[in-house]
Amino acid sequence: MLGHRQKGDDIVEKIGIFLGAGASKAEGAPLQNEIFYEYFSSEDFNNSYDEMDRELATFFYDFFNIDLDNDSLENVVFPTFEEALGLIDLAIRRKESFVGFDIVNRASNSGRLRFISQYLVFLIAKLLNKKLKKSNNLHDQLVERLYYLNIIKDTFFISTNYDILIDNALVKLYNKDIYLDYGIDFKNYDQENDWQRPVFDKSVHLFKPHGSLNWLYCPTCNQIEITPREKGVTTRLINEFHRATCKKCHTVYRPIIIPPSFYKDMSNVFIETIWNKAEYYLKQVNHLIFCGYSFPDADIHIKYLLKRIQINSDHPIKITVINYYDGKSDTSCKEEEIRYKRFFGQKIYYEKMSFESFVKEPEKILGSDCC
Ligand SMILES: [Zn+2]
Repeated sequence: MLGHRQKGDDIVEKIGIFLGAGASKAEGAPLQNEIFYEYFSSEDFNNSYDEMDRELATFFYDFFNIDLDNDSLENVVFPTFEEALGLIDLAIRRKESFVGFDIVNRASNSGRLRFISQYLVFLIAKLLNKKLKKSNNLHDQLVERLYYLNIIKDTFFISTNYDILIDNALVKLYNKDIYLDYGIDFKNYDQENDWQRPVFDKSVHLFKPHGSLNWLYCPTCNQIEITPREKGVTTRLINEFHRATCKKCHTVYRPIIIPPSFYKDMSNVFIETIWNKAEYYLKQVNHLIFCGYSFPDADIHIKYLLKRIQINSDHPIKITVINYYDGKSDTSCKEEEIRYKRFFGQKIYYEKMSFESFVKEPEKILGSDCC
């Protein structure tokens, strides 16, 4: 049976941990509005003459009047990652072009918008790859602590982040006979000595409704390959392009990264499955803990999912919010608390606790859920 497990005479409650951008930020990942500045002010970019970086420079000049080679970037106000990718995705969906940036035609620059869309995804993959090399293992600490408290299998995770911090932390449980289950099947299951199908009653679920940097999608086979123990798609798709094709049909893989915009493409069958399963698990949750999630207005799909489970669940769901960090102003805290309360109602627990503190002692928040 899903959701509940007997432990002595007590029923251990099902715990959902929702990881937002703030959880990755605590490990060194840039926030949405920092991504472009971080990437374009890096030495790697300044010394790069490859096609991707040159095309991005043209795109930023034409679309946002930003001269990446000559402007002093610390004074530039960049668009957010979501704004840039959202514009391109919407144009592709509507089959419309911008001057000089076509989707598909017979001109020499045919397909340019699709390339820009992929380059933007590679950009974030490259940046996260670099930034998270020196992470401080907060996600590892959380998983280890939940394992120590013997509640890891009563917990599932939802992450709106593309990075694979929580993924890597959960993969480390394999030597304890606990498996990571993303809720979808991978083509790796058919390959020897590769990622194996998780064992049902020995698994921890992780749902990633916005996609993941370690998933490579073959649009011909309609299958996803997972790149375990690699830091995202970067190595495959950018540095080792020859490995970035499907072994069966030789189609070039596509990343599955869905920006949290209003125009989100939910038509991919894998993403649909993830959303459906996330809803199924969330409905059974007793305690939902938001970590590092600011409840942004743009995430209307996430809000829709959360409202569905709040209304449709047959029992009340306790909601706790943990998103404090040193230097966070009282005004930001208050505004955030209001955003949560206006949506879920007044009865939520808005804690002045950081992700760093939570991972060390999650039992302080979980209380009767675990101990
Ligand atoms: Zn294929």
